[in-house]
Amino acid sequence: MGRESLTYDFIFVGAGASTSLLLMALHRRQLLSGCRVLILDGDLKLKNDKTYCFWANTHDPILDHLEAVIGHQWSAIEVAGQPSKRLENQVYARVSSLKLYDHIRILSASENWQIQKAEVSAVGSDSQGPWVEIDGQRIRCKRVLDSRPPEWQKPGRNDVHLWQSFAGWHIQTLKPCFDPSKFSMMDFEVPQEGNTQFVYVLPTSENEALVELTRFGKERINSNHAENELAAYILQHYGQVHVQEKEFGCIPMSSMSLPESGHEQVWNLGARAGLIKPSTGYAFKSMYEWSEKAANEWFRASYPAFNRKPRHGFYDKLLLGILEKEPEQGKPIFERLFATQSPESVFRFLDEKMSLKNELHMLVRLPWAPFMRAIAFYHSNTLQAMVVTLLTLSFLALGWVPSWQGLGAAILGVFGLALIGLPHGAVDHILETGTLRPSKLPAFIVEYIGKALVLAGIWYLFPVVGLGLFLIYSAWHFGQADGETWSWSGPRSLAWGASVLFFLLGTHSEESSAIIQLLSGEPWSLSLSPWLLLLWLPVAVKERNLSWAWTLVWLSLSSWLPLLIAFGLYFIGHHSWNGWKHITQRMKRSSIWVWKQSLPFHLGAWVLLGLFLWIWPSGHSEDAFQWAAPFFIFLSCLSFPHVWAMHRFYNKFRNA
Ligand SMILES: Cc1cc2nc3c(=O)[nH]c(=O)nc-3n(C[C@H](O)[C@H](O)[C@H](O)COP(=O)(O)OP(=O)(O)OC[C@H]3O[C@@H](n4cnc5c(N)ncnc54)[C@H](O)[C@@H]3O)c2cc1C
Repeated sequence: MGRESLTYDFIFVGAGASTSLLLMALHRRQLLSGCRVLILDGDLKLKNDKTYCFWANTHDPILDHLEAVIGHQWSAIEVAGQPSKRLENQVYARVSSLKLYDHIRILSASENWQIQKAEVSAVGSDSQGPWVEIDGQRIRCKRVLDSRPPEWQKPGRNDVHLWQSFAGWHIQTLKPCFDPSKFSMMDFEVPQEGNTQFVYVLPTSENEALVELTRFGKERINSNHAENELAAYILQHYGQVHVQEKEFGCIPMSSMSLPESGHEQVWNLGARAGLIKPSTGYAFKSMYEWSEKAANEWFRASYPAFNRKPRHGFYDKLLLGILEKEPEQGKPIFERLFATQSPESVFRFLDEKMSLKNELHMLVRLPWAPFMRAIAFYHSNTLQAMVVTLLTLSFLALGWVPSWQGLGAAILGVFGLALIGLPHGAVDHILETGTLRPSKLPAFIVEYIGKALVLAGIWYLFPVVGLGLFLIYSAWHFGQADGETWSWSGPRSLAWGASVLFFLLGTHSEESSAIIQLLSGEPWSLSLSPWLLLLWLPVAVKERNLSWAWTLVWLSLSSWLPLLIAFGLYFIGHHSWNGWKHITQRMKRSSIWVWKQSLPFHLGAWVLLGLFLWIWPSGHSEDAFQWAAPFFIFLSCLSFPHVWAMHRFYNKFRNA
């Protein structure tokens, strides 16, 4: 630990927009009177580095509260190729960052807040309270307000992390070109270059404006290239101009959530608190609103959360997904949005203040195909769980005529086993190398069959041990595959895998005991409630894991189906399907390619199954399950080397 220094009441790390807005909100309420306040920033903030814009209703308090720093307001808009129109009871306002920083300097001088140029290396808290560290020295206080830029994790497959990058010129034209009451946003008449690109024009007088080329894309815009595009746009629209100032910037547009500070009295602000709206990059008004809330709750111990409606997270992600996968769709989507909606409605939607009915009304008017593709890609797990729920309900309905239920299960079972059930476990030979290596095949087969035979031997000699091992590595493997799908830790995955396995067995206690008795010779007496698995539901809901929640629902419903149907739904409809997705995605291969690779071992598995059922000593039991015991033992022997191979496969990609 470094040296200790004197204490403050509040330390603001970073003196950018979020800190400024919070200080203004606190100052308006006189909440910092007499407090020792320290504001730290690595930059002196003497330049105009950003221009902040936001929309607001004409009677919104934000316009009064920020009157001192708002430099200009527009009451008319031209957007995405639509004719210009007056904004109804709304304005679009502009704040230059320098004005904001200067305002804070004025407040600091009058209130005795201390501003210091310093790069903060760490922020934390211990039993003596929160601290910030500068040059190895810790400064203590009662609360740290941290607005350092967020540290993003590496995006996972289901995350979208784009950049909104731009280059802007504050220009002065030689002749009057602008109407200072009207601004233009999203003019798409610029080359799209495989991204979504458009221009903002924010005039402040008849011959002055900020003209900004903006890109939504995976790659940030190259500033030289952007300036060339900008120069061409300006020359085409306004002729020769004088460039007064230049502005470059980059805003993360991310579907990933940011971690909380982890300390009660270390409050994250601004971008670090996730207040940038992922699909637009706007944050200024949210930061203002959060500051108002935080100031109102200043003396409460807990962090004032900024509650977003979950469905807006869903919309944001879909749009980001489209912008990432099909950037050429950005232009038609935004153009259609503004062609079918008033700007005021769009702003209300972006503020997340529209009713669900109006949202749906708005969304159905957008080009639906890219949204459907995005749903299929980013929500495939939820769609999958919904499909299995429907299947479960269908089997329950078929239960009125048991013979139909059995026939349906047999048809779907064979079809599912042939499509993914067996193939997902029949590509273990290419998991390691990514492709078939004939020279390595014999050794692989010998080792694979060897592992299976060892287990068959254990089953034969010590059935109870065989059963125990089967249950343990099945729980491990099911949990591991689901943990990969839902990004869980090892222990949680194992707990889940075990709970699913025991739930399936325990809610079909009669059938399970019959099979297990046949397998091990031991009686089985576990009986579980069909509702037990729903104990996980609050966790799934809290974590907003919709596909998990659906999975819990259909697994619970499957308690009223025969064991083999319930297990088949889990094994084929959930486990194999997920495993298949992991294999195709990580190997970056199509399903057809992987399926073809699986063919030799897949067909071999059917042959082995036939042989196994034929030679296995099934005894003289008249029990309807007598064939099920050898089937499960066969599955267990064959899945043992598969579990091993998948474990190595998952580890390989986790460590990559
Ligand atoms: C160029 C640009 C234009 C934008 N325009 C708009 C807009 O028009 N409308 C809108 O709604 N949103 C806009 N945004 C998005 C958002 O409003 C801004 O990103 C906003 O600045 C976020 O506020 P903040 O306080 O989190 O970050 P900042 O304003 O960036 O403040 C963070 C401060 O922390 C300091 N700092 C960083 N590391 C350290 C450290 N280790 N120690 C001490 N200090 C540190 C930095 O110097 C900086 O001053 C824009 C963003 C950018 C980048």
